[in-house]
Amino acid sequence: MYDYDFFVIGAGSGGVRASRMAATYGAKVGLCEDYRVGGTCVIRGCVPKKLFVYASEYSSHFRDSGGFGWSQADHDFDWSTLIANKDKEISRLEGLYDKNLDNHGVEIIKARGKLVDKHTIELTGEDGVRTITADKILIATGAWPSYPDIPGIEHAISSNEAFHLEELPKRITVVGGGYIAVEFAGIFNGLGVETALLYRGEEILRGFDLEIRTKLRDEMVKKGIDVRIHHNVEEIIHDGDQYILKLSDGNEMATDLVMYATGRRANTDGIGLEDVGVELKPNGDVIVDEYYRTNVDNIFAVGDVIGGMQLTPIAIKEGAALAATQFNDTPTFVNYDYIPTAIFSQPPIGTVGMSEEEARDEYGADLRVYKSEYKSMKFTLAGRDERSLIKMLVDVKTDKVVGAHMIGPDSAEIIQGIAIALKCGATKAQFDDTVAVHPSSAEEFVLMK
Ligand code: NDP
Repeated sequence: MYDYDFFVIGAGSGGVRASRMAATYGAKVGLCEDYRVGGTCVIRGCVPKKLFVYASEYSSHFRDSGGFGWSQADHDFDWSTLIANKDKEISRLEGLYDKNLDNHGVEIIKARGKLVDKHTIELTGEDGVRTITADKILIATGAWPSYPDIPGIEHAISSNEAFHLEELPKRITVVGGGYIAVEFAGIFNGLGVETALLYRGEEILRGFDLEIRTKLRDEMVKKGIDVRIHHNVEEIIHDGDQYILKLSDGNEMATDLVMYATGRRANTDGIGLEDVGVELKPNGDVIVDEYYRTNVDNIFAVGDVIGGMQLTPIAIKEGAALAATQFNDTPTFVNYDYIPTAIFSQPPIGTVGMSEEEARDEYGADLRVYKSEYKSMKFTLAGRDERSLIKMLVDVKTDKVVGAHMIGPDSAEIIQGIAIALKCGATKAQFDDTVAVHPSSAEEFVLMK
């Protein structure tokens, strides 16, 4: 007899959903977390990031308003107000998570969990150390920012610290070209920080549709961000109250703060996985089968810790699937086809399905690409020099839409609906047959000829 039917290490999106669903199905569930309930998404990821994006967009909204007749008053921005309000909102959400788990009968233990054997977990918290036992165990410990090993890297912050800066720097250099780098470059720039983004490769956002990537870089540059591709940092030198970056092209760059956003590594260190023989990939990701079972038959893993697309909705779906499989007698796994995603860059990107490059490889001459590039109606009077781009990729043999991409205002909101259509196997003819919502940007998706 074990203390728990199911014990979860990590109260992020995946762990919370799995524990709550397992409890709903009647399991006795415990959950340990050594930081705050909510995990990366709620505490130091999606949610505070989006609040920062909203904050940073006001500078351009204020500028745009002139063309609509609003007089241009001075608008002062106070970072400490934003931080305080953001912290309050995050605490509110954390409280809701706590309450929701509690209502479902999940026991939350504020402690760090470490596997001792395949059914025993050592919990280290403020009250000391104790052990518990569980029939089934879930590793949902997420991922953590990873940095390259260069001299002076200890001077760099990650997005974790960016959420708690005491004051905004005058200048910042963001290193990386993925989701976090482009999102934070937009945030800092919008808040008036002189922002540079250094990316080591050919074009930011590797893996996404090339035209969309190039368009984002162009728009970021237009907004005043110093985006440098083919640039990397070889050393960071602390020089008084600034940092000197020694760059790969032999030049130097001075800045007041360096933020690295160079990927996230699975949180698998120090939780006893090796001690109980759980197999990991060379990069630290936990290896699982399609039902999220590790090579140790009663230990499972979901979310960022298993790699793949490190996205909150994926972790949630995996957590729910695991609970249904293990505690509701319903073998369930996540279908990873047509996963939509949004990048809250400025302008934002919404995307689902194949990029043009992937579709070209798959369908060759049978690929038809539809494109619409336009200026949002709002930007005409605003006088904003920003254009949107929408692309649809169609396999002419089946007429099926295999990819849809958008960069421009509201693209995150719009792509969710488009993703449903693609998931249902919608054809271009069905898009064409759909009546437009006018006037909107979304209507471009049904008007492309
Ligand atoms: P990403 O994997 O998106 O991007 C990492 C970036 O860092 C890439 O541009 C990569 O370059 C670069 N990089 C990697 N190693 C080095 C190095 N040694 N030196 C210089 N550059 C390097 O990771 P992020 O940290 O941006 O985000 C982590 C994950 O979090 C994302 O993958 C995403 O799944 C999730 N996320 C999702 C968001 C959303 O849904 N809106 C928002 C934020 C994060 P290269 O391309 O050459 O490999």
